[in-house]
Amino acid sequence: MIVIMKRGTPQKEIDKLSEALTAKGVEVNPVVGKDLTILGLVGDTSKIDDSWIEANRNVVRVMHVAEPFKKANKMFHPEPSTIRVGGQEIGMNSRLALIAGPCSVESEEQICGIAAEVKAAGANFLRGGAFKPRTSPYAFQGLKYDGLELLMEAREKTGLPIVTEIMAPHDIEIFEREVDVIQVGARNMQNFDLLRELGKTRKTILLKRGLSATIEEWLMSAEYIMAGGNENIVLCERGIRTFEQYTRNTLDLSAIPAIRKLSHLPVVVDPSHATGKWWMVDPLAKAAVAVGADGLIVEVHNDPANALCDGQQSIKPSVYRQLIDDIRPIAAAVGREM
Ligand code: PEP
Ligand code: MN
Repeated sequence: MIVIMKRGTPQKEIDKLSEALTAKGVEVNPVVGKDLTILGLVGDTSKIDDSWIEANRNVVRVMHVAEPFKKANKMFHPEPSTIRVGGQEIGMNSRLALIAGPCSVESEEQICGIAAEVKAAGANFLRGGAFKPRTSPYAFQGLKYDGLELLMEAREKTGLPIVTEIMAPHDIEIFEREVDVIQVGARNMQNFDLLRELGKTRKTILLKRGLSATIEEWLMSAEYIMAGGNENIVLCERGIRTFEQYTRNTLDLSAIPAIRKLSHLPVVVDPSHATGKWWMVDPLAKAAVAVGADGLIVEVHNDPANALCDGQQSIKPSVYRQLIDDIRPIAAAVGREM
């Protein structure tokens, strides 16, 4: 339920109504915008009578939110959210978030070398997996805690904030301390215990869309994190399973305008996992910017042929540099800064 209040309602009156609503057992989330103040109510609102709220002379209107996601809903937060992390901003009113780096951290030389190259190309975040969710238990599982150390070293050398995937709740403490953006991978999008625990932190979470998740399920996963009080979420479309076998997944570009309509959260696109083919990264990265994505997360490797993970979808630093240059006019055409 949303309560829209008159413009210029004194704070004292907003607080009074919020308290009265809280006493009825719901959580009240006030959003003070330029033009209006709204109170977003979360919880069981079925026992609250609309006309009782509308009797308040500072209330313009009461609206019911049909969607099951509330805090992630645009109705609760009409302005697009800006996420501030590591000296950067992510969101519709910020420059594109350009996240790049290898699938996995493999060595000091590899991660520090790639970090310097993607930074020179224009990237503003470094990605790299230390804990890898592999389909086979016999495949390389990542350098784990040593990988985190190497990412920190690459951050130290380049100044790029680091984005890396978490797999288990017991690692939250170390990720909170050492990582800038915590990635929740597609396979863990509905790991509700993990999401709930991440809701207790205030870290920025890059929430990838599950392999077969609907847009609503994806936003409900964001809601799990937000319900705990952590509103710092960046969504990531990374392709979904369809009947098509030619590409690793099918990039759902329609998810970008859909998220825009439904939510205030920023959304970025991962053309690497979406296609599984390095030569498709360039056209789909461009398409993603054209449909309004707030950024890109791209796998870049200095030696894709010998990469320990996802070499077939990784582009070389020189290809990344060209891609970023080619994206500039596309970004400008859709009113985005880089
Ligand atoms: C990754 O980013 O390396 C990754 C494993 O992605 P996803 O969870 O989207 O498959
Ligand atoms: Mn990968």
